[in-house]
Amino acid sequence: MRLEGRRESENVEDRRGMGTGTKIGLGGIGGLIIAGLITLLMGGDIGDVLQQAGGLGGMQSGGQTEFTQEEQELATFSKQVIASTEDIWSQIFQQYGIGQYPPPTLVLYTGTTQTACGQGNAAVGPFYCSGDQKVYLDLSFFQTMDRQLGVKGDNSSLAKAYVIAHEVGHHIEYLMGTLDQAHRKMQATNQTNANKYSVRLELMADFYAGVWAHYESRLFGSISDQDLQEAIDCAQKIGDDYLQKRSQGYAQPESFTHGTSAQRMKWFKLGYQTGDVRRATTFQESDATL
Ligand SMILES: [Zn+2]
Repeated sequence: MRLEGRRESENVEDRRGMGTGTKIGLGGIGGLIIAGLITLLMGGDIGDVLQQAGGLGGMQSGGQTEFTQEEQELATFSKQVIASTEDIWSQIFQQYGIGQYPPPTLVLYTGTTQTACGQGNAAVGPFYCSGDQKVYLDLSFFQTMDRQLGVKGDNSSLAKAYVIAHEVGHHIEYLMGTLDQAHRKMQATNQTNANKYSVRLELMADFYAGVWAHYESRLFGSISDQDLQEAIDCAQKIGDDYLQKRSQGYAQPESFTHGTSAQRMKWFKLGYQTGDVRRATTFQESDATL
């Protein structure tokens, strides 16, 4: 997508090159399955995944870190995308009389990092923590998207922006009260039912990512047909059924936490087509209509 000349967010903490520790953190755009997939593809254990997580640029040593041009481009792009979500969600909040939009902080890190939700780990992909209202992103995930998941698109693709906008979608859910409400219900029920709540939260975040893209396109004309196709292709490739079939040869619907490829594409597209936050109805849908 075309973001040349657009501003970069200042709500960014750059912790790259400061990674420590080895504990596994939270789920994000594609959940733990992605960690499993990477592990499988590399034929190693989770320790190998962590080593790999340093990925794109120079790794930490004594605080001095050099970044490749690719990593700098991705960092700039991510800050521009976050800035755009700030502008667009501020506008939407105003338009619907929701009040002022308090933006999340984007944390760039490598490997592992501390969060209010426990130790964050790049092996699970990008994630949002409502405890500190931060979006955690290790830029090497974009490399994983390209090389391991085979998602098409360059270093400023809508597919990559979608990943960030999805995490911001969880922040919107938090601000609306949806996230806490769902988490409370998830704690009071069994795993299978908790997974169903999780799927609805994830699809709503996909929907909100689509709403953001709708306004990006309408206000800035930054999104081409090819961009849109690549983002939909990405949504397809991070569907639970797709990832599970790829990593273990079959899909177990009761274990889905993020939704099927078809569902993820559907809700992203619905957000993109309507741009209407009132259509974020994933919790009102039955299993059949979701
Ligand atoms: Zn998510």
